[in-house]
Amino acid sequence: MARTNKLVTSTLRPRLVNGRFGDPALFVEVAHERRALLLDLGDLARLSARDLLRVGAVGVSHMHMDHFIGFDALLRVNVGRDAQVDIVGPVGLAACVGAKLGGYTWDLVDRYTTELSFVVHEVEAPDTVKRTRFRFSQRFAAEAEGLVPVQSGAVLETPHWRLCTAILAHHGPCLGFAIEEPVRVNVWRNRVEAAGLEVGPWLKALKAAVRDGLPDHTPVALPNEGTRELGELRPLVSVERGQKVGYVTDVADTPGNRTAIAELCGDADTLFIEASFTRADADRAAARAHLTTTAAGEIGRSCGARRLEPFHFSPRYEDCEQMLLAEVASAFAG
Ligand SMILES: [Zn+2]
Ligand SMILES: [Zn+2]
Repeated sequence: MARTNKLVTSTLRPRLVNGRFGDPALFVEVAHERRALLLDLGDLARLSARDLLRVGAVGVSHMHMDHFIGFDALLRVNVGRDAQVDIVGPVGLAACVGAKLGGYTWDLVDRYTTELSFVVHEVEAPDTVKRTRFRFSQRFAAEAEGLVPVQSGAVLETPHWRLCTAILAHHGPCLGFAIEEPVRVNVWRNRVEAAGLEVGPWLKALKAAVRDGLPDHTPVALPNEGTRELGELRPLVSVERGQKVGYVTDVADTPGNRTAIAELCGDADTLFIEASFTRADADRAAARAHLTTTAAGEIGRSCGARRLEPFHFSPRYEDCEQMLLAEVASAFAG
């Protein structure tokens, strides 16, 4: 196997919790962050408590049962802990979260010193989010925080990722999501070795300093001892476009949706996209405001996605997974 000089690691590691046929839920781990993201809250029984406890940011496409029934699992594991979970979704999400929380008796909250908060971000318009907080100590009564402008297209943001959304059409509004790494810093092994240094964990600090835009005189600790200035070490790495993961489900095949998805998920490294029905069942797909395999493949191509991961296959095709995959692949290839 050829030894590559550019050491590329993935920051975003997405996986479908329930495969291509089960309830939608995409668990996304982020390298160097304990906090994980979860897109859609279908049945979460297959996520371990350990993974559930890592979920700090959630995207809910819409509140049909197969995308929202897992909320209780997330609630259950967090009660009694200090945690904040941000939940991004369409208009109506705060009422649905409030109704879920209102389904239990919270008379024992005074016995806890911990605080659990769900912060709901309803995307009202591309540039406006309505924020509502639900706190354990307040027995999860809704606390309106008003309208918040969306900064540079991202509803949520950390140094490692940004969560962007588009309002798409299903039966009602349904959000599409894109998780973007702002920039990617890659280390070049040959350059490290030519500088008389070793490849090792110390490079994490170098990458973080470059990513955070620190000044040239910043000292960076070397593997054995001593430091060098960041400016001197910069040539060991290259700064490139960050990784991007798209997620689109439960959308009608309309020109408006196709345009909005191409804008949101353009250039995605991986696009997770529903392909609920076969191309032969296009009538059924249209009646239910879902995509066919062919539409999913075509949309993936129009986004310029490097990899397409179709999911939300209707259970009626349980015995023909290969046929569905082949239909998506042929439309994706064009
Ligand atoms: Zn669905
Ligand atoms: Zn739906």
